Amino acid sequence: MSTELPDQPRTACRVTIRGIVQGVGLRPFVFRAAQHHQVAGWVQNDAAGVEVHAEATPRAIQAFVDELRADCPPAARIAEFAMRSVAAEGIADFQIRASRREGPPTVRVTPDLCICPDCLAELFDPADRHFHYPYINCTNCGPRYSIVQRLPYDRANTTMVGWPMCSSCRAEYDNRLDRRYHAQPVACPACGPAYRLLEGEVTVDDSSRAIERAAAMIKAGRIVAIKGIGGYHLACDARRPAAVESLRSRKYRKEKPFAVMVRNLDEARELAELSAEHERLLEDVARPIVLAPRRVELPGVAPDNVLLGIMLPYTPLHHLLFAAGAPSPLVLTSANRSSEPIAFRDADALEALSGIADAFLMGERPIARRVDDSVVAVRGSRTQMIRRSRGYTPTVVGHLAIDEPLLAVGADLKNTIALVVHGDVLVSQHIGDLGDLETDRSFADTVGDLLAMYEIDPRDLVIAHDRHPEFVSTRFALSLPARMHVAVQHHHAHVASVMAEHELLEEPVVGVAFDGTGYGNDGAIWGGEFFVGSVRSGFTREDSLRPVQMPGGDAAARFPVQAAAGFLAELDDLPDMTAEPFGFPARFHQARQLVERRVRCFTSTSAGRLFDAVAALVGFTRESTFEGQAAMWLEFQARASAPRSPYPCDGLDARPLLRAIIRDRLAGRPIGEIAAAFHATLAATVVEQMALLAGRHGLRFAALSGGVFQNELLVESIDREVSARGLPIKLLFNSSVPANDGGIALGQAALASMVLSLGGELLR
Ligand code: ZN
Ligand code: ZN
Ligand code: FE
Repeated sequence: MSTELPDQPRTACRVTIRGIVQGVGLRPFVFRAAQHHQVAGWVQNDAAGVEVHAEATPRAIQAFVDELRADCPPAARIAEFAMRSVAAEGIADFQIRASRREGPPTVRVTPDLCICPDCLAELFDPADRHFHYPYINCTNCGPRYSIVQRLPYDRANTTMVGWPMCSSCRAEYDNRLDRRYHAQPVACPACGPAYRLLEGEVTVDDSSRAIERAAAMIKAGRIVAIKGIGGYHLACDARRPAAVESLRSRKYRKEKPFAVMVRNLDEARELAELSAEHERLLEDVARPIVLAPRRVELPGVAPDNVLLGIMLPYTPLHHLLFAAGAPSPLVLTSANRSSEPIAFRDADALEALSGIADAFLMGERPIARRVDDSVVAVRGSRTQMIRRSRGYTPTVVGHLAIDEPLLAVGADLKNTIALVVHGDVLVSQHIGDLGDLETDRSFADTVGDLLAMYEIDPRDLVIAHDRHPEFVSTRFALSLPARMHVAVQHHHAHVASVMAEHELLEEPVVGVAFDGTGYGNDGAIWGGEFFVGSVRSGFTREDSLRPVQMPGGDAAARFPVQAAAGFLAELDDLPDMTAEPFGFPARFHQARQLVERRVRCFTSTSAGRLFDAVAALVGFTRESTFEGQAAMWLEFQARASAPRSPYPCDGLDARPLLRAIIRDRLAGRPIGEIAAAFHATLAATVVEQMALLAGRHGLRFAALSGGVFQNELLVESIDREVSARGLPIKLLFNSSVPANDGGIALGQAALASMVLSLGGELLR
């Protein structure tokens, strides 16, 4: 096929492409480019990615390679593109070869993708054979990570293995010029899996009728469990307070916000104030839940919250449900009982949700692993990952200079794990809070799953874990027969996660780690820490919030008045806190007694608990029903007020601040003003301390991490204060991994990789 001229000798080259390159239509793209440039040779998937052999004139090869570099399919993410000359073999045409499998896989798995515009058009085209088919997909869209059972990514290695293709699907799958060429999950109503509805003893077997019935039930105020991409959701009408209320009571979920799905972007705009960045995120192929300031109140959906979590439809099924009359906005929340992980196996869902869902809309295609919805927020101009999961995992979040496999097991709250394969850091989907039997099992399964996928023997691993000896994750890590275990301090890991994201592993920084709790090197509970150092050299703790005695361990995080008892024990002449305006419950006195007698108390420098204590002082005296609730409430109070000037403060000692707040409360100052002044004080304190350390050590960067920095107002105030003071410090925050403990695994991996490269001396 190549037109050979006598003066144009044929040459040959090999191109290897690494990254997210399988299951994204790369091979048909290469094939078409080869046709276009009259190049002979072949393309194939292998365990590392995609390999191309090209033979043609030098000019044709150059044009071909240029096109490969420039015009890759939208879902592909190229990490590496390498080219070398080889001997020409005299090949006459261009072929797509079968996958080759040699050695352990290093190829990167694609995350699950939302339905593409072409498939969406076919879904609603009565003349198309995929009309109304809930599993329609192509090389540009559909499930990936949630259906892969092993690598490489071929149909036989997915949960679609049980549905042989019909002749029409097979023809598309085999046609190099078709959008479904080698789209592994292709299926149609004639050959593929279906949906059915289970309502008590009654089963509706036809997909379309099942979807219509589910939509009608939701419209009538019922709760339906719906099988999605990475697990089951519970759905109800977000505009029916009674339905939302019954979902809360059946799920034992008191106040934690529910996310909603809306039919389209216009409806999202009606519900919330959307910036261009919010809209970009809503329409991203990852289709995360996007947190945005709400414009309307949906009673019971996100009580006391100024933000609303919104997502757009991402599966064909969601579009079909809306087309069948399902209400929009639709509450769509992970299906589970209270603290358990999202249900993803049919039998488990039926059992766990029997008292919660009125009916089950169940799809036949099995889910290989649970993958929750992701949650993102926009902080100023920055995107902030809150929960990194569906659509993002398992993409690479960073690179480390090691070849050995490394596993980091994260922390016990908001757990994720990280696996480093040939230097690429893959962070797992959100697993949840460990300490619950099902979640612990899910954690162990995820470790096993990732190791199996990349064929890593645990005995070859370096395993990083939190320093906390009692963590479920720590004990699990120590139970694995690794080459080496590395304990990493929690707040070091927070700071390192920022530096790893920014690929500044050598750079010395001021590290600020503010969160609820983490095990300190001295056995105390840390959480208001200032460090100096780098990922390479390790971090030194330079300072912290002034320590207090925190009564009652974990309960201090659940009851803000208990945290207040710890801080207020440091003050003399306290007014009667059970009287107005404070109205503290009796728990406060019990907690105070614990502090006075030094019973069940822990030394704590936690900034998260300081937020709780201040929230209690300005009126949040009840129990927190989800992590961070009191601090979020305090931030929302502050945001409702105009900015206020800070309280006088004395370095990292909170006592003058607390005294001033008590005085203000007694004087009847509005709580929004007090909350705003508190935020201003904390921001000024952080900036003051950063400036001091940066000046003393000659540092240009500060890295701020930990759950407290999910507070938008605090971050904005710090930003503003740094520029107002003209400080030559560049602030670094997390972006692609959460600032909360969901980012810990990345930081652990980064620090452990340095231990490894330095011969295991540091930190051990
Ligand atoms: Zn598609
Ligand atoms: Zn078919
Ligand atoms: Fe933390």
